[in-house]
Amino acid sequence: MIRETLTIAVDFDGTIVEDEYPRIGRPIIFAFDTLKKLQNEGHRLILWTYRKGRTLEEAVKFCEENGIFFYAVNQSFPEEEFDASYSRKIHADVFIDDRNIGGLKSWGEIYQQLVGAPAPAKPKTQKKGLFSFLK
Ligand SMILES: [Mg+2]
Repeated sequence: MIRETLTIAVDFDGTIVEDEYPRIGRPIIFAFDTLKKLQNEGHRLILWTYRKGRTLEEAVKFCEENGIFFYAVNQSFPEEEFDASYSRKIHADVFIDDRNIGGLKSWGEIYQQLVGAPAPAKPKTQKKGLFSFLK
């Protein structure tokens, strides 16, 4: 379990949502739950993505709609300005990215490893109502 404040860099496509770039895919199960839990515990979340411009804004907005407010986006801290004389690698304690060697762990595992608690139970799929075909 983490006891200090961590800076956690998180990728978007293929990590928070299924990779449908440039569209926004469906959220990956437990991604937002885990990020919210980390955010509520005071950890700094940095969005670290290839996206830029409009597709980046859409991703940030989508995360905000799901309760995630990033400390910084594609930079190490909010006021950082791009300067070619510095390394482009951002400063973070942990990176969560689907391109990690070995692939992305499930968010259930990430939750367990970072938060130190088992992930919440999967929501039960709703039984289809009699008239669900009308929807
Ligand atoms: Mg990715």
